[in-house]
Amino acid sequence: MSLPEPAPTDASLASPAALPDVARNLALVRERIAEACARANRPAGSVTLVAVSKFHPAEAVAAALAAGQEHFGENRVQEAAGKFPPLRAAHPALRLHLIGALQTNKARDAVRVADVIESLDRPRLAAALAAAMTQDGAREAPGGGRRPRLLVQVNTGEEPQKAGVARDAARGFLRACREEHGLSPEGLMCIPPAGEDPVPHFRFLAELAAAEGLATLSMGMSGDYEAAIACGATHVRVGTAIFGAR
Ligand SMILES: *Cc1c(COP(=O)(O)O)cnc(C)c1O
Repeated sequence: MSLPEPAPTDASLASPAALPDVARNLALVRERIAEACARANRPAGSVTLVAVSKFHPAEAVAAALAAGQEHFGENRVQEAAGKFPPLRAAHPALRLHLIGALQTNKARDAVRVADVIESLDRPRLAAALAAAMTQDGAREAPGGGRRPRLLVQVNTGEEPQKAGVARDAARGFLRACREEHGLSPEGLMCIPPAGEDPVPHFRFLAELAAAEGLATLSMGMSGDYEAAIACGATHVRVGTAIFGAR
């Protein structure tokens, strides 16, 4: 008895090169997160995995959604706005994090598309986000009435080319967000300098969050998310280890 041949599939979607084994990669990352939580005596589930899908097609995101992934990260508003609204319609639990440097003139689109904006880092952007979220008299809020959660990005390595508020300016900026812009950032985000030990950066961010009473710490990427969990990360942003090289 011979089995029927499997139906041919669309090679552009099904080939391993175009779509790495997202489900298997996700399972491995989740396992390593659980182990890192256990080593740090932290409850399983105290870390949210944000799957960073920038430059990867909607099919890759769909494969992750099918494997139970709900939080995704994108760097660019434009790319996120093209990829996510159709997926969101089919998956109401989907949550989109914007994690890239954000131009002030994209604030309105960012508010419309994102559930979390992790890259709030300067007063003009705070003002633009606040304006996008606020109703102006008879006019509708330009952001469609949405209020994404906000994290302040800190440039812990003081790198001139990198987004983020300077270490010394972070507390003043948080105060200005609250008092001048009516925003309530819920936590902090950082991207340590490439090629450096990230741990001192993670520790700095954790101490700053504790001093400010902020509950959310977004830190750790494919190469260092376990170290970040040991330092208290509540959100890790993992791209390559899930979706493959970009
Ligand atoms: C691309 C990116 C990530 C994911 O990096 P990987 O090394 O691919 O895991 C995380 N955070 C930010 C801000 C990014 O831009």
